[in-house]
Amino acid sequence: MKTHKNKLNWPIVGNSHIFDFLEKSLANKKVAGSYIFTGPANIGKTTAAYFFARSLVCEAEGAPALPCGQCPACLAAAKGIHSDIYLIKKPADKKNISIDQVRDFIRSLSLSSFLNSYKIGIIKGAENLSEGAVNALLKTLEEPKIKVVIILTAADIDVLPKTILSRSQILNFSPVKSAAIYDDLIKNYQAQRSQAKNFSRLAAGRPALAIKFLQNREYYEDYQRLARSFIGLLSPDINSRFSAIENIIGKEASGQEAVKLALGALQVWQNLARDLMLLDLNLADLAQHEAFAEELSAAKGRFNLKSLLSLINVLKQSRDYLAANVNPRLALENVAVSF
Ligand SMILES: [Zn+2]
Repeated sequence: MKTHKNKLNWPIVGNSHIFDFLEKSLANKKVAGSYIFTGPANIGKTTAAYFFARSLVCEAEGAPALPCGQCPACLAAAKGIHSDIYLIKKPADKKNISIDQVRDFIRSLSLSSFLNSYKIGIIKGAENLSEGAVNALLKTLEEPKIKVVIILTAADIDVLPKTILSRSQILNFSPVKSAAIYDDLIKNYQAQRSQAKNFSRLAAGRPALAIKFLQNREYYEDYQRLARSFIGLLSPDINSRFSAIENIIGKEASGQEAVKLALGALQVWQNLARDLMLLDLNLADLAQHEAFAEELSAAKGRFNLKSLLSLINVLKQSRDYLAANVNPRLALENVAVSF
């Protein structure tokens, strides 16, 4: 596990300004009532929130690094069964984090701790809070309690109400250099060099994504499948393009599941379109998708700068359609007919 200045024992790479700040807060016992960890998805916000929580509940006196990882509180927290750490997020089949979820969350946080320790509540993806849920949360943020810490993670804080922002300590996570992610994968996750090279580039500055690619084979294969579907979209034959879309959203997918599949595909396609643009600008070194370098180079000839820009525009437009509740299949077909 990576050691941060021997004081925070957190498996986090990059963003040292944030960890220096939290390290000082812990050392001086100056902990805010609520924090917002913001930055792109998969950059390590939730991991940081968990390790901040673990450091707060750790019972070791004068441990050289926090969390100590050995006391009963640390062992329980590592197993995800510590009674003073709560996490809520949007259920996979729901549109948002509901008011009931937030009420339960607040009730749990307001019970006193058995262990007289901090109680920490983490809301993952706070941009998904329903309007009612935000209002329920606001009351709690307005009256902070001693030894209760609420951490919201959010990719986009612009959608959060100002009343929440003004009551919280906001910490901005930035993308991490791929060389640092590469080193982390080798040193701390026993990756092979070829894997570290591939995943550190593919992750585009998001360490948690690189680790996910390394540790979750199915997740990586899914990514590859979506990347391959983009290559299918580059086919001059419109029928192959439509079948590429059929492969992403099968006939049985519907509702939020179909939206999620379509959004996942559009994100991956945007990454690949960006690579095509970099190849066009002779900046192949910056491209994310080493594994698809050949296919992308072969396809690049069909585009010029103007058509690439219009492709990138169409991809963005399709994401806007999805956000506006357009049928997900139609949103993807919008891309297929635009080549
Ligand atoms: Zn401990």
